[in-house]
Amino acid sequence: MIARRIVLLASLVTSLAALLATPAAAVDAPQSRINAVATISILGDLVRNVGGDRVDVATLVGPNGDAHVYSPTPNDARKLAAARIVFVNGLGLEGWMTRLVTAAAAKAPMVVVTKGITPLRMEDDAKPGRTMIDPHAWQSVADAKIYVANIRDSLAAVDPSGKAIYDANAAAYLGKLDALESEVKAAIAKIPADRRKVITTHGSFGYFGDAYGMEFIAPEGLSTDADPSAKDVAKVIVQIKREHIPAVFIENIYDPRLIERISEESGAKIGGTLYSDALSPPNGPAATYIAMMRHNARALVDALAP
Ligand SMILES: [Zn+2]
Repeated sequence: MIARRIVLLASLVTSLAALLATPAAAVDAPQSRINAVATISILGDLVRNVGGDRVDVATLVGPNGDAHVYSPTPNDARKLAAARIVFVNGLGLEGWMTRLVTAAAAKAPMVVVTKGITPLRMEDDAKPGRTMIDPHAWQSVADAKIYVANIRDSLAAVDPSGKAIYDANAAAYLGKLDALESEVKAAIAKIPADRRKVITTHGSFGYFGDAYGMEFIAPEGLSTDADPSAKDVAKVIVQIKREHIPAVFIENIYDPRLIERISEESGAKIGGTLYSDALSPPNGPAATYIAMMRHNARALVDALAP
């Protein structure tokens, strides 16, 4: 496996050298690209949209990956050590990051992209009466726009000569997010109020529900770090039957068997897959943030609208 990777890397270096040798590439290439690291794939896509050709973006938790229980690799430490700037979601999502930064002896500034958003809180199942901060703010497009503004300003801070480019890229992308926000609102408006209640695996859609007027119920809390108890699962099944909740959804980052079991035992149909904490691979239906939000809205409408 390692030998194969080295071969692949060698051929990549060869093709890169060939590319750089062509005059067009040499003329078009910026003087030096900024190495940026983003912890999760959703964040990586936002940074790519703002950074454009000027920034190389590496992500740590890849497509369909679960950031709550992620185990960093030596390669992640190398990516961090080479970074000029690091983007994290914050709000308690990446608990493993502090140790990784120390291990990598990373010196790059770390930008918390949720700075300025109003965090939602959720009851902590493990400690009744206590609340926890919900980290999944990207599920509201309005909050994603704050992420983009933070990314724009912090890229300009480490690379002042690129400021005009970051401003222009961010403005163009924010325009697309405005259109996306209207699209998601219009889609959810098609679902009757009494059918706007669904089940997912973990509590990752609080911001979506808050922004667009839906209720998401999950047997698992805000994190995925412990399996839900039999009691939690039984509680959800009772709630589905009592409140006639029409659909349950699989999450792309989670084993589908739990939701399949809840569907079987409750009679609620499986509405499809929602992308919660990670994008799909490039050839999948949620390869970018915009595609992800569009896919999720469509899946909800398909399952719930008359
Ligand atoms: Zn999550």
